[in-house]
Amino acid sequence: MSGNLFIVAAPSGAGKTSLVNALVSTQPQVRLSVSHTTRPARAGEIDGQDYHFVDMATFGQMRDAGEFMESANVFDNFYGTSASAVQAQLLQGFDVILEIDWQGAQQVRNNFADSHSVFILPPSKATLEQRLRHRGQDDEATISRRMRDAEREISHYVEFDYLIVNDDFDTALHSLTAIVVAARHQQRHQVNQYQSLLAELLA
Ligand code: GDP
Ligand code: ADP
Ligand code: 5GP
Repeated sequence: MSGNLFIVAAPSGAGKTSLVNALVSTQPQVRLSVSHTTRPARAGEIDGQDYHFVDMATFGQMRDAGEFMESANVFDNFYGTSASAVQAQLLQGFDVILEIDWQGAQQVRNNFADSHSVFILPPSKATLEQRLRHRGQDDEATISRRMRDAEREISHYVEFDYLIVNDDFDTALHSLTAIVVAARHQQRHQVNQYQSLLAELLA
């Protein structure tokens, strides 16, 4: 039994964390991978829950030991996904969501042909900036940097299987949920779950 691996990417502020958290709260079979990062924690972020906050030396040791299934430098900080944590959850049958940037998405796609990737778009550039400001978590310099990098992130949308525009939140959440639920209904997953039913029907 194995769950599905999902990649969710978006320019910072498009709403991927809000959407993924809402998805996880209604879908008990879905788990969110907690990344390691060298970025300082924002106010309210909890170590081990939002991220594993580590220093550069620790991150480098983990990377060199091959502990990350992907890692990348984003906005001058390092981010990485623990391979063992993700594998353990997939093997237990959970669907796992990776909230990662386009560089990490490329690495995961190369190693896991079976992954499903979703790109979240803001409804406009102005809305993206508004949301970054509204979040109230980043200073002006960080917001400008993220707006500048947004275009580069968005240019990679073509590499993703699914696109969702996060205008009305509930509509976008509905779309994301539909993608996850549809993947779970792939025949190869259903065969595992319904082995005895199929045996009975075909006997
Ligand atoms: P620069 O090295 O100052 O030009 O900037 P970078 O963004 O490339 O790197 C920032 C810091 O991370 C530097 O201290 C680098 O030595 C270090 N660094 C860069 N890439 C890696 C990496 O893949 N692994 C580790 N452990 N450290 C890295
Ligand atoms: P990301 O994880 O992509 O950086 P967040 O989930 O932190 O983005 O969302 C950025 C901000 O935008 C947050 O303050 C969030 O509450 C808000 N937001 C997200 N989706 C919507 C939406 N559909 N409509 C209005 N505001 C939204
Ligand atoms: P934030 O600091 O706003 O939470 O995330 C900044 C960017 O880093 C986002 O584009 C996010 O997708 C990306 N990111 C977060 N965790 C990871 C990770 O584990 N790997 C990679 N490659 N990118 C990540």
